[in-house]
Amino acid sequence: MLAAGLGIMVACAGPAASAEQAQGPAQPTPTPAASPPFWGTIFIDPDIITPADPSSFEGLRDAGRGERTMYDRRVDGWITVEAFLFDARYDDGLAIEIQVNPEFASVDAARAEAERFAPVIGQLPRALRVGVETVWIHQGTAPFGGGNHNLLIHVGQAERYVAEGILEETLVHEAAHSSLDETHAAAPGWLAAQAADGGFISTYARDNPDREDIAESYLPYLALRHRADRISGALAATIQATIPNRMRYFDALDLDLYPIRPEVARGVAYLPALFRSGGSR
Ligand SMILES: [Zn+2]
Repeated sequence: MLAAGLGIMVACAGPAASAEQAQGPAQPTPTPAASPPFWGTIFIDPDIITPADPSSFEGLRDAGRGERTMYDRRVDGWITVEAFLFDARYDDGLAIEIQVNPEFASVDAARAEAERFAPVIGQLPRALRVGVETVWIHQGTAPFGGGNHNLLIHVGQAERYVAEGILEETLVHEAAHSSLDETHAAAPGWLAAQAADGGFISTYARDNPDREDIAESYLPYLALRHRADRISGALAATIQATIPNRMRYFDALDLDLYPIRPEVARGVAYLPALFRSGGSR
């Protein structure tokens, strides 16, 4: 139902960076336990997934034009257009229809946008892609969106995220809406974890506990459990101290993270201790 979908999409905007937040990764601040350590978690570290990481993206096929109804944040509403369509394939069997606004002047221009984002989406864990059936791509600078089994992208906003190194991290947040919210946001186990933790990882999650807590918590979880070598000790300690029960909830799901591989797969664990740099680890 479109009406139901509208509510979901409007509700699932990613946090927009203010000038202040855009200056760099948020830093944990010593505050009372009740105050979340971050404003929004997409800003915590730009290296959780980087352009150098593997992608499951396999290829793109032109699928012509077709009438599609897409959400456009510039008008804060639904538009129905003859979209440029592309089928993106991933090497773990998943597929996504990418719908590009016809405001991009030609099929070549539209394809260039699809080719730009499809590989980045392929860097997301499979468990976050499995609920993504479509992607909407528009011009303009407006927040991304998740939910509705979709990822909403405005290319002007994407430029900002690329400049900050957080395009991948933002898509983790939005894809968590699309793939995890439906099953987990109101699950008794999740609500119990929220209660046991007693606080929130960000003010964005605290202010929208039903809508944003899964998406705001999953990226820090991914960083701590699977990218610990890339984040600071202070960041790791803050995540662990703030949401330990939510961490255990995600652990228990045992989600399929392909193509994200444990850091040991990068070779570090297989080197004899003699050849490891440092020695303090
Ligand atoms: Zn969100």
